[in-house]
Amino acid sequence: MAARSFKQELVGVFGQPVAENPTQVMIEAAFRQMGLDWRYLTLEVAPKDLPAAIAGMRAMGFRGINCTIPHKVAVVSLLDELTPAARAIGAVNCVARQGDKLLGENTDGKGFLQSVQAQGSVKGKSAVILGAGGAARAIGVELLRAGAGSLTVVNRSEARGQELLQVLEAVAPGRSTFTRWVGDYVVPEGTDLVIQATSIGLYPDIEARVPLDIDSLRPNMIVCDVIPNPPRTRLVREAEAAGCVVLDGLGMLVNQGVIGIQLWTGRDPDPTVMRQALLDVFE
Ligand code: NDP
Repeated sequence: MAARSFKQELVGVFGQPVAENPTQVMIEAAFRQMGLDWRYLTLEVAPKDLPAAIAGMRAMGFRGINCTIPHKVAVVSLLDELTPAARAIGAVNCVARQGDKLLGENTDGKGFLQSVQAQGSVKGKSAVILGAGGAARAIGVELLRAGAGSLTVVNRSEARGQELLQVLEAVAPGRSTFTRWVGDYVVPEGTDLVIQATSIGLYPDIEARVPLDIDSLRPNMIVCDVIPNPPRTRLVREAEAAGCVVLDGLGMLVNQGVIGIQLWTGRDPDPTVMRQALLDVFE
């Protein structure tokens, strides 16, 4: 009889709250399809316990971990190395063990970029990002790194918007501006990409309206929503009706999961299996 190992390789997610995080479903669907006996654990970790949790994953030989709210910034100081993107963004959502070292990467913006670049290059394009939180920060940094020509950050709170502007200026000086979000935002003529990166529309508040003048959308614009659940947000439906190319938040979620699996296993998972697994649980 061939030797058989009863020890699974472990990855997972640290967050709080974390119970509603569906990542396990898509990652384990990919592992099954790849024939890998790996587990993805959904683990509730309080902020005060994060150092012990990272020490624990090192001790137990986890191959990697995702970090979600509220750990993406705090985890940075607990790791051995950061990728250039994670350093520029100042936050990590994916940790990979490389030998006895932990490498921090930020896959949110890269996942987003892959979705957009499936429609064409972003080089020289002009983008509007609604929101200035963690998702907007990762997306903004990756858009500039990929050569976007101009970026307008639109945010309700001035302080957070200015903070993001400083991060973007450090990546590519002179290409970004900040606009305070008051009333319905009118998208300037000539904009190529409109990115909804706030938490408006996330389940269960699914009919919440993004303050945006839908009449200012043009059919040649690509409109992206980061909200993964539900994928067909109110904005997605309205932008489709306006004739725009529309990208939902599920694409970004799946793509960042693909990058995480590549980092952890060195192999390419099937994104369609992952997307379908998420659609099955969101129904
Ligand atoms: P943060 O809490 O860091 O930021 C939230 C942002 O939303 C802020 O800019 C905030 O503005 C803005 N905002 C919230 N409510 C309103 C409102 N009513 N009107 C105007 N602005 C508002 O969150 P994250 O950036 O981490 O996450 C944002 C969303 O992105 C989440 O819903 C998350 O699910 C999604 N996401 C999706 C991913 C994917 O793979 N699809 C990956 C990562 C995140 P202000 O500064 O004024 O408070």
